[in-house]
Amino acid sequence: GNLSARDLEVIWHPYTQMQTAPAPIGIVRGEGACLYDEDNNAYIDATSSWWVNIHGHAHPHIAKQLAAQALELQHCIFAGYTHPPAVNLAERLLQILPANQRRVFYSDNGSTAVEVALKMALQYWDNKGQRRHKIIAFKNAYHGDTFGAMSVSGRSVFTRVFDDFLFEVHFLDVPTPDNIDHLIADIKAQQPDQIAAFIFEPLLQGSGGMIMYDIPAFDQLLSFCKDNHILLIADEVMTGFGRTGKNFAMEYVQTAPDMVCLSKGLTGGSMALGITTSTSNIYEAFLSADKLKTLFHGHSFTANPLACTVALASLDLFTDPACAQQRQRIHEKHQHFLQELTSMAPVKNPRLLGTILAFELVTDGADGYTNQLADHLHRFFRSKRIMLRPLGNTLYILPPYCITNEQLDLVYASIRELVSQLH
Ligand code: PMP
Repeated sequence: GNLSARDLEVIWHPYTQMQTAPAPIGIVRGEGACLYDEDNNAYIDATSSWWVNIHGHAHPHIAKQLAAQALELQHCIFAGYTHPPAVNLAERLLQILPANQRRVFYSDNGSTAVEVALKMALQYWDNKGQRRHKIIAFKNAYHGDTFGAMSVSGRSVFTRVFDDFLFEVHFLDVPTPDNIDHLIADIKAQQPDQIAAFIFEPLLQGSGGMIMYDIPAFDQLLSFCKDNHILLIADEVMTGFGRTGKNFAMEYVQTAPDMVCLSKGLTGGSMALGITTSTSNIYEAFLSADKLKTLFHGHSFTANPLACTVALASLDLFTDPACAQQRQRIHEKHQHFLQELTSMAPVKNPRLLGTILAFELVTDGADGYTNQLADHLHRFFRSKRIMLRPLGNTLYILPPYCITNEQLDLVYASIRELVSQLH
């Protein structure tokens, strides 16, 4: 096929402009955990297309619902109007989210779900009627590529060129059993009564390299913030919808979030949609006759009926007990492979949470990561027709829940081969 050649003439891709990057592969259809190129070669989508396609590709239930909705209502302004897909989805989501989440605000991707949460938090009037102006976040976090989301993301090569334009954020170390006292002292030194919000990826950092926190220490940190009326923004864009083994990662801790950001798995990967949920408390702070107390935020595609419909269809699949069984099956298979990884020399720190398996590759490079290694990994998995993209020297598998045992075994076998070559 010539899709790839035509693409190279007209398209600007995310992250891949490096001249040494191989040309993009043209994908023409998807089915289950696989994507197919123009010559009908199957590629196993081992990271669910950037953690989005929890039910794999082109699921017939989602396709049917989408087609039916497209004949009814495709779009409608969402200021002053509403429609069944938006209301049905909000009602159903609030049933499965942490119980204190009572309001659904729609946007259209993960970064905007984060922007909305930050704007709500910075505009919110606290228990003393004051607005607070500081935000805290974790070092090495990733919350998206828009300016607000970049500001709260750990400063890195991704944001470096924009550093002068990002707002100030106080960054904390990731919680471990040993540093929790230090973390709390660190927040105390920031004058907690000026901190509007703490935004975090619950339980683990995704783009930062699948870095898992110590859960009790994390919970202690959240609880300290809660006691100081610092709003807790749980960015569940990656972790939501079963990825970590529970419906939402916040179910692992005792402290309830004040806001939750959702996207990616929300629609099972069939449409772009973002959601920011909040407590009644936050919502009510914005109910006022004073125009300045309005939340001035709205996207053209807010609550797009097609997107809400596929999110509902995705929820049908997600809440079916068969989906939980699939996730348990993947977890158990990962567990076996994890045992094996433990004894492989270049593999460091293998770890598992729900359906996420991750480990570092340590080679001769000083920190184990070199451009040559990254390049080698990318080309190696391409040649195996397995879609795996390392994060630095971290390799991870985060498959669609419908991936078969045979497909998972092929992914493991390719990793086994790679590791034996590196050794
Ligand atoms: N938050 C988290 C935790 C994410 O992992 C991502 C995307 N990787 C985002 C926000 C941004 O989502 P989007 O790419 O849809 O803007």
